[in-house]
Amino acid sequence: MKIAMIGSGYVGLVSGACLADFGHEVTCVDKSAARIAALERGEMPIYEPGLADIVASNARAGRLSFTLDLAGAVAAADVVFIAVGTPSRRGDGHADLSYVHGAAREIAAAVDGFTVVVTKSTVPVGTGDEVERTIRETNPLADVAVVSNPEFLREGAAIADFKRPDRIVIGLEDERAREPMAEVYRPLFLNQSPLLFTSRRTSELIKYAANAFLATKITFINEIADLCEKVGANVQEVARGMGLDNRIGTKFLNAGPGFGGSCFPKDTVALAKTAQDHGAPLRLVETTVAVNEQRKRAMARKVFQALGGEVRGRTIAILGLTFKPNTDDMREAPSLAIIQALKDGGARVRAYDPEGMEQARPLLEDVTFGAGPYDIAEGADALVIVTEWDAFRALDFARLRRLMTTPVLIDLRNVYRREEIARHGFRYASVGRPGEDG
Ligand code: NAD
Repeated sequence: MKIAMIGSGYVGLVSGACLADFGHEVTCVDKSAARIAALERGEMPIYEPGLADIVASNARAGRLSFTLDLAGAVAAADVVFIAVGTPSRRGDGHADLSYVHGAAREIAAAVDGFTVVVTKSTVPVGTGDEVERTIRETNPLADVAVVSNPEFLREGAAIADFKRPDRIVIGLEDERAREPMAEVYRPLFLNQSPLLFTSRRTSELIKYAANAFLATKITFINEIADLCEKVGANVQEVARGMGLDNRIGTKFLNAGPGFGGSCFPKDTVALAKTAQDHGAPLRLVETTVAVNEQRKRAMARKVFQALGGEVRGRTIAILGLTFKPNTDDMREAPSLAIIQALKDGGARVRAYDPEGMEQARPLLEDVTFGAGPYDIAEGADALVIVTEWDAFRALDFARLRRLMTTPVLIDLRNVYRREEIARHGFRYASVGRPGEDG
């Protein structure tokens, strides 16, 4: 099957490479010349474990190519995926659909013969109808079926998620699209991943409802963590005790500095806006958004407390900047708000992240970037774990103690236990656990 993937970012590139790996002939399109040139040289524009190998092997096999020429790729394709960004629109928080409609117009002008156009970008309910209208207005002769096929992959585990998804959701209004879509995902269907056919609007809403539910689950346990701190309970044990109930499940119950990333923050806000517009406000989701927003900066208060209430003139070393490990994505990372609050308090900030520093640099002024945990710890008054990269899970505390001016660890991901840290003479604060020094 011939596939054109419009947008070669975190979703488009992973999806395109994995679909090529299934045996399809995939052309990944982007409007960034630098991105396409890098991909043609075999360089990955994003950090995603395993991606470089799968891109290289499929490019070598002639199944995966990269181009700036959207029209050529679309004309040759049976199925065209739209995987462009849908960021928050400035001002009102609605999803900005300008990239989606821009792509739809370009696709409309280029389609040749019956073509299935699939929106993989996360788009508000009803967008499929609008995309169809945009295509028909641009080219009344275009013979297309517009499908919704939201993507559920997680950055950091994107390839495994794409190849072994919990489910594939396909929303369609035109029955002609059913068979080509089943063909696209046939290898997964053979692996028994459930293929869920729904109406287009239902499919669009499934994606937002799933993300909002997960964001709410995280926010719930974060608030329980705050209560644990007040009453002397342990949030990790509460989460385990809750999660072992099959109806609840253990995932997304790790208390921490609040959710970030390229999806949950914008998708929760956009869903709340859609619901308000339709007169069916989602108050739980609105509250989740508000609680999470406050939480990020509130985490800086833990650092203030651990240093006796004042950070002015103190040096704080931040371990981990990306919104989660195994990605270089800095979008809405909690580290940004935490660092800003520390700087507002007069602290000097140093930071290290295994993969995120290139993306972080333009976002963080007056922050000194170091070469590793021990480099940034030298002369620091406190070390703060913001992102739980594996590389931070077995730190040499004896060495850190020698390097740091004051041995203070604020562990916002509950990576360590108080007893083991205290043994090395460190003051220790974490999230939602009793007996803290913070
Ligand atoms: P991204 O910003 O990494 O990539 C989007 C790419 O599209 C960019 O490279 C941009 O240059 C390109 N582009 C924009 N308009 C174009 C056009 N007209 N022609 C060709 N290329 C064009 O975005 P992303 O993180 O991959 O997200 C894409 C969509 O997938 C969003 O709607 C997002 O919500 C959704 N999504 C993202 C994730 C994730 O983990 N990142 C997971 C599930 C769903």
